[in-house]
Amino acid sequence: MNPSDNDERVARALHHAGVQPAGAPLTPPLVLTTAYVLPGDPAGDYQYARWANPTWTALDAALALLEDAPVVTFPSGMAAIAAVFYGLLKAGDRILLPADGYYTTRILAERFLVPLGVAFDLVATAALGQKSFDGYRLVMIETPSNPALDLADIRAVSAAARAAGAIVAVDNTMMTPLGQRPLELGADLLVSADTKALNGHSDVLFGHVASREPKLLDAVRDWRRIAGAIPGPFEAWLVHRGIETLELRFARMSESALALAGRLRGHRAVRSVVYPGLPEHPAHQLARRQMRGFGSIVGVTLADKEAAERFIGGCRFVRAATSFGGLHTSAERRARWGDQVADGFIRLSVGCEPLEALWRDMQRSLDAL
Ligand SMILES: *Cc1c(COP(=O)(O)O)cnc(C)c1O
Repeated sequence: MNPSDNDERVARALHHAGVQPAGAPLTPPLVLTTAYVLPGDPAGDYQYARWANPTWTALDAALALLEDAPVVTFPSGMAAIAAVFYGLLKAGDRILLPADGYYTTRILAERFLVPLGVAFDLVATAALGQKSFDGYRLVMIETPSNPALDLADIRAVSAAARAAGAIVAVDNTMMTPLGQRPLELGADLLVSADTKALNGHSDVLFGHVASREPKLLDAVRDWRRIAGAIPGPFEAWLVHRGIETLELRFARMSESALALAGRLRGHRAVRSVVYPGLPEHPAHQLARRQMRGFGSIVGVTLADKEAAERFIGGCRFVRAATSFGGLHTSAERRARWGDQVADGFIRLSVGCEPLEALWRDMQRSLDAL
């Protein structure tokens, strides 16, 4: 991607309102209403609030600038993924999901799609490049995978899957539109759990779908409008406020994560470190091509469960919590959720604290093991 295009996009997303009349509020207003004044025959965008809300409209405009594509927003990342499934699939379809992606997506397919006649297969993210896509209605890519941080080549997989007649969806949660641009790499649509880095303040669940193909996005929007899985205006307002610092946060988090990954791997208490930005990552060359910054998640393996728990507990600036992408650094042992990773594997989500304070804190806790 051209860096100046990206800067332009970010700047416009922050100032998208353009020239406004004197006296207009500088920030988007929070509009709480269930209906709009509507005399006579229904006309205009604002009729009933399950269909439209000015606080969404302002956020949609900013997100659409960041994505360079129209968006539909949702009250959570899962609601966005569910809208793609329910809006686009029908009985008899078969879909391909990442075996190592966000686990609730697989549960949704197993519990709620299969009984409606939609079948699904699983494939490891690192093996997607070798897969045949014949017979699939939809192929979902999540790269980097979570928490193992394996990569898939979005451009190559999208081309092959589309040639086989499939719709390609990318879960771009981890990288945000500033770190990875699936639609430019050939995906038909992207989903994002804005709960994570996009909002970035760990205070709101949210999601969105973006696509340049009107038919696909219309189906997703219709599903939202009819099923009622709409975001609350206050949550939309919080996310709008959150994205105003996205560029600063994402740059700081990615830079700190790269520095910490390199330093952690040199500590004697650390068995291994996985991070797409490290030259020894098996897909490092792909990461350099496909990602801008390598994201805020670092996989750190310590000797065992006890060492991992003691390390997390011994840090002052690392909160023991699930989720990721927030501006507070957090960490958790993923095996506690049953992920197929070593007992001592920690998913570290690097936040916005000054790097040296974070490193001294982690170093002290590792030294004490
Ligand atoms: C968290 C997450 C989701 C789900 O988002 P929610 O807002 O919790 O529903 C989906 N995909 C990925 C990659 C996630 O990390």
